[in-house]
Amino acid sequence: MEVFFTTATLQNYLNSLKNKTVGFVPTMGALHAGHIALVNASLAETDFTVCSIFVNPTQFNNTDDFAKYPRTTDDDLEQLRDAGCTVAYVPETPEEVYAGYVTQTFDFKGLDQPMEGQHRPGHFQGMANVVYRLFDIVKPTKAFFGEKDYQQLTLVTQIVAPLFSGLTIVPCPTLREADKLAMSSRNRRLSPEARQTASKIPLLLQGAQFAYATIGQFAEIDMAIFKKSILKDFERHPDIELEYYEIADETTLLPATSNTPKNQLRQFIACNVGGVRLIDNMPLITG
Ligand code: AMP
Repeated sequence: MEVFFTTATLQNYLNSLKNKTVGFVPTMGALHAGHIALVNASLAETDFTVCSIFVNPTQFNNTDDFAKYPRTTDDDLEQLRDAGCTVAYVPETPEEVYAGYVTQTFDFKGLDQPMEGQHRPGHFQGMANVVYRLFDIVKPTKAFFGEKDYQQLTLVTQIVAPLFSGLTIVPCPTLREADKLAMSSRNRRLSPEARQTASKIPLLLQGAQFAYATIGQFAEIDMAIFKKSILKDFERHPDIELEYYEIADETTLLPATSNTPKNQLRQFIACNVGGVRLIDNMPLITG
């Protein structure tokens, strides 16, 4: 695996590749099996795979969260080598990434308004700018993003990627631990007690799936009332500090109504457990 710490050396290398398809997996490091699944998908679908490791300061709305974000570069590079990744791009400063770049203000057409957008002001502008910048540097044929960050995947697919001709965004399913907690770099910051609490998040989401399927057999479901009943379930778990729980149309990200096609219903959650912010999402209908 080639490892590049500067943008210029990466670009020299990429320019020497002729007629090859380039797969790209942007990450913030602290890699886990979920990230490696993206790398594997890219290795399977393209000739060369570039994985970037860059904790982008401009997408953190909270400086403490940025400072505490886990950084494990040596271990990350070992995992990428083991996976057979072709190239790692590890810029060590924001200047390395952003030199010569003029920050843009993206029009997200409202997709940035609900959920993460409401709770993390500025996050999506920062995210879209770094993704745009990295696409411009790597010039990938395909870029791989996890459904774990569903709103991000939607914004990148609908708003950022269309600015690059010939680029396809490949969505990848969320990898989960044995107890179904979504894998996340932030999970390493959970105390053993908080880790136990966190395992209730997927159970509550699966509980909502079960409730929807069960009630739906007998009656037309009013989404607002249904959501309220799920929120009541969360109230029974005060160790999960809920930021939001939403049931939305997964294409528009707007709150679901009775007109939303059932196979587009998706539940989204953000919460704090033991001082660590976790997000997850699941369809409302299984199978
Ligand atoms: P991050 O390093 O958290 O910025 O994530 C980099 C990429 O990995 C993003 O496209 C994430 O959606 C994806 N990702 C993070 N966690 C998971 C997971 N558990 N399963 C699948 N993809 C993931």
